[in-house]
Amino acid sequence: MNILIIYAHPNHKSFNGAIFRQVKNHLNSKHQVRILDLYAEKFDPLLHFDEDHLRRDLYKDPEMEKYRQLISWADHLIWIFPIWWGGMPAILKGFIDRVFASGFAYSYKGMGMQGHLMGKTAWIISTHNTPGFVTAFLQDYGRVLKNQVLGMCGIKPCQLTSLAYLRGTSYEKRQKMLATIAQQAQKI
Ligand code: FAD
Repeated sequence: MNILIIYAHPNHKSFNGAIFRQVKNHLNSKHQVRILDLYAEKFDPLLHFDEDHLRRDLYKDPEMEKYRQLISWADHLIWIFPIWWGGMPAILKGFIDRVFASGFAYSYKGMGMQGHLMGKTAWIISTHNTPGFVTAFLQDYGRVLKNQVLGMCGIKPCQLTSLAYLRGTSYEKRQKMLATIAQQAQKI
């Protein structure tokens, strides 16, 4: 299987960096794995369109071609990021704005949308500082990426692993979280 890891955290020595290494190091060697580290890439998240550069042409923006090719290549997308202000970091949001354009990732059909990325699956791993029981009553916390982005574009099933309340967990508990991530990565 072709696996693309999309990693969005500015610091490789962070807990997200540790998650990234756990996933990468525990995927079965039978898979082809590629990495997209958005901060290392210095990805420009700003979406631009105007009278000269039309929104309907974004699906063929030459600057985004290599990212479209990566998404097309992948059978399974693994997303690793922290929750910032209830949702994904801006660099990741901008990546989706610019790459998952109409005509590439989806098209409009009747009153709804038709996904173009069927047959792919995903795993979202996100971290945050809110107790797990509270997030059930909150918006987003990874659910927007799962349902309103990936689901709408046809990428399903999508597993969502939400590592809650990091600031209140012990070192041992965080190590257990990393061990569970490794086990889950091995099962892919
Ligand atoms: P780090 O800060 O790197 O690490 C977290 C803890 O894990 C630290 O104690 C660290 O020492 C420890 N650690 C690091 N590596 C390891 C390892 N290998 N093994 C064991 N322990 C380790 N949270 C919310 O809940 N809701 C929000 O809306 C929200 N908004 C935010 C907005 C901003 C702009 C920012 C900066 C943070 C926000 N947060 C929010 C908190 C954020 O989600 C967490 O800070 C983040 O998820 C922690 O992940 P990290 O990789 O940055 O962890």
